[in-house]
Amino acid sequence: MLDIIARLFNSAPGSALQKLKHSYEQTPMEIALYNRKRYCVFLNSQYFTNGFDKETFIGKEDSYYFEKLQIDSLSLKKRADAFTEALEQKKTVRFTEKLYFPHTNKTMYFKRVYQPVFLNGDDSVSHVAFFGSNLTAIILSQKELKYLAFHDKLTGLGNRDFFNQQLEQMIVESARRSDAQISAVLFCDLDNFKLVNDSLGHDVGDLVLIETARRIKKSLRLSDSIFRLGGDEFTIILKELKQDVDAGTVAEKLIHSVSEPYKIHEHTISYLTMSAGIAMFPRDGKDRETLTSNADMAMYEAKKHAKNNFKFFSEDLTQSAKERLRIVKGLKELIQQNDFERQFNVLYQPIYEKIKNERYSIVGSEALLRWNHPKQGSISPALFIPIAEESNLIQHFGEWILQRSLTDFKYLRSLFPEKPLYISINLSAKQLNAPALVDILHNTVRSISVPYENIQLEITETSIIDDSNIALKNLFKLSDMGFRLAIDDFGVGFASLSYLQKIPASVIKIDRTFVQQALTSKQNSGLVKSIILLGKNLDKEVIAEGVENQSHLDFLDAAQCYKYQGYHFSRPLALADLEQKLKAEQNI
Ligand code: C2E
Ligand code: MG
Ligand code: MG
Repeated sequence: MLDIIARLFNSAPGSALQKLKHSYEQTPMEIALYNRKRYCVFLNSQYFTNGFDKETFIGKEDSYYFEKLQIDSLSLKKRADAFTEALEQKKTVRFTEKLYFPHTNKTMYFKRVYQPVFLNGDDSVSHVAFFGSNLTAIILSQKELKYLAFHDKLTGLGNRDFFNQQLEQMIVESARRSDAQISAVLFCDLDNFKLVNDSLGHDVGDLVLIETARRIKKSLRLSDSIFRLGGDEFTIILKELKQDVDAGTVAEKLIHSVSEPYKIHEHTISYLTMSAGIAMFPRDGKDRETLTSNADMAMYEAKKHAKNNFKFFSEDLTQSAKERLRIVKGLKELIQQNDFERQFNVLYQPIYEKIKNERYSIVGSEALLRWNHPKQGSISPALFIPIAEESNLIQHFGEWILQRSLTDFKYLRSLFPEKPLYISINLSAKQLNAPALVDILHNTVRSISVPYENIQLEITETSIIDDSNIALKNLFKLSDMGFRLAIDDFGVGFASLSYLQKIPASVIKIDRTFVQQALTSKQNSGLVKSIILLGKNLDKEVIAEGVENQSHLDFLDAAQCYKYQGYHFSRPLALADLEQKLKAEQNI
């Protein structure tokens, strides 16, 4: 558009200046016209004068305009240079301008164009036109988008991406410096935060996180930066430390401040503490990934030993901690992609009952999760389930296991409608202690449509002793709904008689180590016999796990235990293989 206007008037004789002004008046952008001496000869009505009469600026240079509007900017020089270029080299010059207006405390952004004007009838420049469009709204929304992409909405702290970026920057900057700098990465995680969410709800949980962020911020210097990675995980970058121990002092201060009681609405929460791990730069890692994972590992050590403290990373952090971290990382990736099908699989180990002399029949099967990691190969659930528990990840795929095994079970039932079969599903402690468990089970079972009485839920003793009474409440509800409840790995926990009476389970599964040791000494065999007897007297069904050979079977037979699970009968099977086994049984 500028070009058209210019061409039109550059060729217009006589009242060309008047016509030009008139046309500028019609143009919806800020326009000023200057003579060769840089004095302003015209301002259109769009021109921003901040309430001053336009005439005030006519005949004046830009510096006067800047002074009058108290504009604080380096732009005056930029304008002067652009003006010179337009005037002397007859060029159209474009640039952007950021102006700060102190009286309104506003920063505005403009796109500017200086354009030579030829009204002399030849190719000499008579004037220079100045065009402006306000980019403030666009720039601010871009800034806002950038802010949102790098900040956590809840606490306003930087998010994981921002943390990664800042850490990289810290590493690059310190490489440029000649003097060696010590920095530290702190990985912090609240202890018992889940209890807040579970018992007081997520709204209170959110307020707690906001308050935690505030406390951490207050305990730090301005040059330190703090981020929320998600959930109750925070990281901190401490720069320019004098010595390593300073990072410990900061961690101690933070933990102390975060562990003070929280008053949220009518609640006083005094059980929240924090554990932290520290990795020093450059000693404990020269790149972002190493530093972060070493700080995370140190945090895990702190949590493991005694919560509410901190630990420095050290090289001799055990191999198992590294393995744990790899597993947590792998699980988090799966959860993020929400694609469990790709790496998870469920196998079914049949559970048998002796029906007649030397004849055994499948009565149910236990769903056992398998993880085939693309790089690490198959990872045992005995290894990764406890880690998924500790790191609060199990609830993310507990539902998937449920869906998958119930869907498979429904299919099996449709093939063998006459056969009374049940599916046995393991529930972890975290799942059992989640207030939402009953609803989740109810909805899933309903949607897949399997009778409750055909579903056995396996729980371990420790998951009930461990935590609040949520678990016990859940168990009573589930039992009332009609689920079969089984105590898994019976004997290895803190089994006591009173405990057995307390929970509404109708099945006990004797842990495989007991079964296997039964034959090694009289004492052990006595123990297993008394467990079987105990079960019978309390009217519970008893299943022996880990039945590996004929001797185990003979022993159990003599002790009058007639339900079994173990390699002697079958290993955990793929659904199709279980189907074959059931078919073979049908044909006998
Ligand atoms: P568990 O619930 O006690 O499951 C029985 C375990 O004993 C299974 O190990 C099974 O393969 C193994 N087993 C069965 N018969 C024999 C035998 O004759 N000899 C020996 N040595 N082992 C036998 P697996 O599949 O490795 O699972 C280990 C544990 O991981 C399970 O113990 C359970 O606690 C947990 N787990 C597995 N799948 C799930 C799941 O879907 N959810 C939850 N929460 N936990 C699971
Ligand atoms: Mg089990
Ligand atoms: Mg078991």
